Amino acid sequence: MKRLEEEGIVEIDMLRLPNEKQLWKGVAITECLQPIPCNPCKEVCPTNAIKMENINDPPILDYEKCIGCSLCVEVCPGLAMFVVRVRNGKAMITLPYEMLPVPERGQIVKALDRLGNVVGDAKVIAIKHGRTNVITIELDEKLAMVVRNIKVE
Ligand code: SF4
Ligand code: SF4
Repeated sequence: MKRLEEEGIVEIDMLRLPNEKQLWKGVAITECLQPIPCNPCKEVCPTNAIKMENINDPPILDYEKCIGCSLCVEVCPGLAMFVVRVRNGKAMITLPYEMLPVPERGQIVKALDRLGNVVGDAKVIAIKHGRTNVITIELDEKLAMVVRNIKVE
């Protein structure tokens, strides 16, 4: 947790990950791990898949209830919610994106890890425009838990 506290960097072993079946369906993964007074993700969730004993608690996902709708990705002010689906060797990652330019559907972008390193290419397969744009990319399944941002060139 030291790295999280000092640098705000989430590492994979800090996360409670979904199983293979849940990933095939596509579920939200929260990388919001520190206590802060915030709960729009819980409020917006249509299936009550996000648990939080009180507003300061980090959210806990019920992967069985989650339908992967990505509404929590759109409203999270901390840009800490993602939806991940893994099928047939491909990962589809839905992530928040507040930078410019906004990519176009079909565009190839750089896939970035949590430190901002380029780890491969990804194809933009869907964009939902809003105050926070919500972008879905497709890439190799090996990068499903590695990539959490994109770079548009
Ligand atoms: S993806 Fe949809 S169903 Fe799943 S936790 Fe987020 S808001 Fe709830
Ligand atoms: S909306 Fe985002 S920052 Fe706020 S509690 Fe939910 S995951 Fe954390």
